[in-house]
Amino acid sequence: MNTEQFYPIFLKAKKITIDSRKVEKNDIFFAFSGDNFDAATLAEKAIDSGALAVIIENKEFENSEKNIFYVPSTLDFLQELSIRHRNQLNIPIIGLTGSNGKTTTKEIIHAVLSEKYNVQYTFGNLNNHIGVPLTILSIKPEHEMAVIEMGANHQKEIQLLCKIARPNYGYITNFGKAHLEGFGGFAGVIKGKSELYDYLKKEDQTILINENDPIQLEKTQNYTQKISFGKLNSDYYFEAFSENNFVGLEYQNQKALSKLTGEYNFTNLCAAASLGLYFGIDFSKIKSAIESYTPTNMRSQIVKKDHKTLVLDTYNANPSSMSASLHNFVTFEGTKTIVIGDMLELGDESEKEHQNILQLAQNLGFSEIITVGKQFKNVNKNSAAFKTTDELIQYLKNNKIQSENILLKASRGISLEKAIDFI
Ligand code: ATP
Ligand code: MG
Repeated sequence: MNTEQFYPIFLKAKKITIDSRKVEKNDIFFAFSGDNFDAATLAEKAIDSGALAVIIENKEFENSEKNIFYVPSTLDFLQELSIRHRNQLNIPIIGLTGSNGKTTTKEIIHAVLSEKYNVQYTFGNLNNHIGVPLTILSIKPEHEMAVIEMGANHQKEIQLLCKIARPNYGYITNFGKAHLEGFGGFAGVIKGKSELYDYLKKEDQTILINENDPIQLEKTQNYTQKISFGKLNSDYYFEAFSENNFVGLEYQNQKALSKLTGEYNFTNLCAAASLGLYFGIDFSKIKSAIESYTPTNMRSQIVKKDHKTLVLDTYNANPSSMSASLHNFVTFEGTKTIVIGDMLELGDESEKEHQNILQLAQNLGFSEIITVGKQFKNVNKNSAAFKTTDELIQYLKNNKIQSENILLKASRGISLEKAIDFI
């Protein structure tokens, strides 16, 4: 089977799924095999569940009469099919990458652009070599635009994702200390993320930049096809303000207050508002999109519990986002406890980075510092240090946190959100 023959079948499908349990009538099931499992064995069952076709990489199970098609690599086929689909689409596609804030920015951009257009966007965090093609393939004729999140933890990954998504607009949220291991240090992060700029420049497409970020400025300085924000003389200029720990933006004397906390979210809001204005949406509409967007995904989320203010940021953490989060939290009024967990995937820099964050936390002067994870335990000799979230939970059962404000932030792998019920 090749993608040219398969494309008409794809066009008739409802959606593509890679999870056999989620197969519904008229879906296409892509059978990705794991190390110990051959997903081709699920092909017949998927057809019985109503699948229109199944793509497998084990010839033994091929049955073209039943629309079970063999290909040498399910992944290659998925990517090639998405490239073919992309080539048929005549809509602007916005590609996003960066170290922190991709999902948040993607969600706000989607909320803003949806005020005027029918916008498809990355579902959740499906931002890798499988997620990006799946998002592209989910674009239907009724969609007028798409916002695609592109994640990367090593070189050439964004290059591949650009080849698939072929963005017409691109934005790098920031260059931070994330995935240092895979990228080869901070210089590697800049190089790897900038593959988005490389693509856009090569194809004469448009770059959105934050002119307050010196790296973004430098990387795009000789390029003219840009939309800018951040400085008074940028294309779009917004002022930051905050109310009740929420961050807002002001544009030509009109204010929009979001339900996000954290100064860093101001930049995310600016990116979305700039694109909104660029695509001809009135600021009054942008305002209502920003005001209605509610984070529910443990990213910069504020929750009130028993008269306490909880900041839930347990979705991920790295030195840049941790530092931004601590600087934001210190501005909260009242007593403050921070519960911070390990930042994973830092390679050789790990010990130093954990040391730095702990030092920063001590300098900022929180009422109480609690750490979770082996890395922090290694460097934290002064305050409460737990190896795991389960150990923390045991402690919390007998020792209630007294502060009025509590921040929880850690890498995904620490599962710090399990502790919420015990606070
Ligand atoms: P992932 O790599 O997991 O896909 P992401 O880039 O999509 O992450 P988000 O999930 O949007 O990032 O945000 C994760 C956390 O990063 C937030 O909860 C917040 O602490 C922090 N963050 C968000 N935006 C910024 C920003 N512009 N600068 C620094 N930190 C940020
Ligand atoms: Mg994300």
